[in-house]
Amino acid sequence: MKTLLLAKHAGLCSGVERALTLALSAKSKPVRLLGNIAHNERVIAKLREAGCAVIEEKDLDTIRGGSVVIRAHGVSPKLYKKLHSIGAEIIDATCPFVKKIHDIVTEYNGKGYSVIIVGDPTHPEVIGTKGYADDCVVIDSLESAKNTTFDEKKQYILVCQSTFSENKANIIINHLKNTIKLLAIKQTICYTTKERQAEAKSLSCACDAVLVIGSSSSSNTTKLVDICKEQCNKVYLIRDAEDVKAIDLTEVQKIGVTAGASTPKELIMEVLSGMSNENEVTLPTKENETTEATAPVTAAAEEVKESKPTSKKMTMDDVMASTSFEIREGMRVKVSVIRSDETGVYVSGLKLGKKDGFVAADRLTDGEYKPEDYPVGTEFTAVVVPNTNGNKDYIALDKKKFDEVEEMDKALLDSVFELKIDKAVDKGGLLGKKGSYTVFIPVSHIELHRVADEDLQSYVGKKLLVKKLPDKKGEEGAEVKRHRIVASHKEVLIAEKKAAREKAEKEWQEKKAREEEEKKAIFEANRDRFEVNNVVPGVVKRFADFGAFVSVYGFDCLAPKTELSWTKGVAPADVLEIGKEYEFVIIKVDAENYKVSLSYRLLQKRPYEIAQEKYPVGTIVTGTVQTIVNFGAFISIEPGVDGLVHVSNISDKRLNSPADVLKVGDEVTAKVISFVDNRMALSIKDAQEPAEGAAEAKEGEKRVRNNARPQQERKGKKSAGDEISKEEQEIVQNFGTTESVQNNILGDLLKGFTPSDEK
Ligand code: SF4
Repeated sequence: MKTLLLAKHAGLCSGVERALTLALSAKSKPVRLLGNIAHNERVIAKLREAGCAVIEEKDLDTIRGGSVVIRAHGVSPKLYKKLHSIGAEIIDATCPFVKKIHDIVTEYNGKGYSVIIVGDPTHPEVIGTKGYADDCVVIDSLESAKNTTFDEKKQYILVCQSTFSENKANIIINHLKNTIKLLAIKQTICYTTKERQAEAKSLSCACDAVLVIGSSSSSNTTKLVDICKEQCNKVYLIRDAEDVKAIDLTEVQKIGVTAGASTPKELIMEVLSGMSNENEVTLPTKENETTEATAPVTAAAEEVKESKPTSKKMTMDDVMASTSFEIREGMRVKVSVIRSDETGVYVSGLKLGKKDGFVAADRLTDGEYKPEDYPVGTEFTAVVVPNTNGNKDYIALDKKKFDEVEEMDKALLDSVFELKIDKAVDKGGLLGKKGSYTVFIPVSHIELHRVADEDLQSYVGKKLLVKKLPDKKGEEGAEVKRHRIVASHKEVLIAEKKAAREKAEKEWQEKKAREEEEKKAIFEANRDRFEVNNVVPGVVKRFADFGAFVSVYGFDCLAPKTELSWTKGVAPADVLEIGKEYEFVIIKVDAENYKVSLSYRLLQKRPYEIAQEKYPVGTIVTGTVQTIVNFGAFISIEPGVDGLVHVSNISDKRLNSPADVLKVGDEVTAKVISFVDNRMALSIKDAQEPAEGAAEAKEGEKRVRNNARPQQERKGKKSAGDEISKEEQEIVQNFGTTESVQNNILGDLLKGFTPSDEK
């Protein structure tokens, strides 16, 4: 079983079809066609049968009367003039897309631009277009673009031949963009050609072989062949069903078929019919129709593959039906203007298939209709409406209706409305009515959380505020008459929550701004009082991890945690009480940022000062050994009060190390022997009761020792046993005790601490 995929836009384009219609309905006989209307033998034969003769430009000198048909390719102004001079009726079938190119070239030529046409220099359309420019160059390849010299002082306008390969044109344009300084670009490849080429590309990607139906003399047909060959290595240009017989398709499973813009529909049908007789082929089924119409051909190919079990052999009517999108009343279609006159605008569009559409003047705009407001190529969306204007050749469209519905949809989409719930749909959601609309709330859009299926019934009869959800189906192809809306209550709740959050945020910001202003005003009013070292009264307002906020003259100041107490690691609440007034000293003023820092501790006694009062020299204290180092031991008297017992003051005996007699945690009794520079030194041995006679002996010994040394030496030097090494100083500096203790020790050590001299 082979699968056959037919391109949707295969066959005659609207421009060629229009030219044929005009030629066949010409009233002034004989009818002469200025060149072949379509590059297809079958079409030419049909025209001949109808009495139309093909003439060339040189023949114009010999003819008089009758009518002359200008084909879709258009002609130059010079040729127009000549046609008028022979007195024949001129039937101008120039395609509107080509006319637009002529208009562009005429306009820019008038402004002094030089013209670049990207196209085939021998193609009749290009020859005609050239006639509208005084200065023109035709580029047909990247090579020719590279070989052409452009004057950098000139301004250029670039247009494309309407049927040129889009891909090739883009390559040339990209090169020229980088080469020419003053370049205006109008990409004028026609809509039909672009569609056809894009389809050919997709088709050739999806198929094992592609048949392109058309004549080798048709420029757009040969371009389709070239495009297909880029993706597929079995591409055949065939004229008719006979040519297919010569092709071996036995190894091929999926066959793509497309056709040039000059190929008539009957010819395509003949080829398809012949193939279905020769090969057992599967054609796209009607079930695939919508998907095909809205998806690229490659996607359509996948659809066909998946639906193989339901595939069937189809009649030619089926084939025709499967190759066009069903036009339904109320359907939205995107269209492009191909012509406009006093009665309205004629349009083409992907969804309209081979037929064109017509929008009557009164269904275009509420304002005054002017044909010139709708130039060729203008795109808009309209709605398919019943054909009441009698012209059955066109699909009747209504732009105003689309605009109205769009406006209504937008209004619904933007607004929140109340919905009474009429019904719960099991495992689905809730249903209600809004005017003529049926409103559905999916279960996931009822609350902020997902509502359990068994709870859905409890919503029936309730009124919910809901918001319309965007239409997932998109605009194109969707019916405006569907009268169904998918809405969400959850979105309303989210919006309410967001609004409340934003309101609170806004209020907070405003409050903050107000407070900031007030703060600045208070600061400015007290500027003279906010001086460093000023002692000020402050009421504690609140605590933070990093300190306390204190109101001074109504201005919020910060007392950092480190400025609250001399003891490290103390929490603000251990020092101050909220609501109480204290004295602080100002330590920093940042007038630019309105910040004042305070210190509380600077006005408080330091721990050693307290200790000095509490434990004067000579006091016997009891403490605990906290740390032992080579040169002594640190004794904790009470929290925050520590002292050092030097190794020489631990015992009467000479010790190698304090650890010989002490260990951490030992309770010891010691005597306060000095507060040199506010540092406490202790002596354990002096706290012990001397043995009888020992005091006198010791006193005598001391006197002897002192007398034996010069006065200067006694005052300025330490005894050998008290010498503090550099290493010991470092230990003290690194010792993790309170600041006061560390200061005590350092002071004693560095100042040449001599316990015996101090006594
Ligand atoms: S410009 Fe496009 S629509 Fe017009 S005749 Fe050429 S191919 Fe057809």
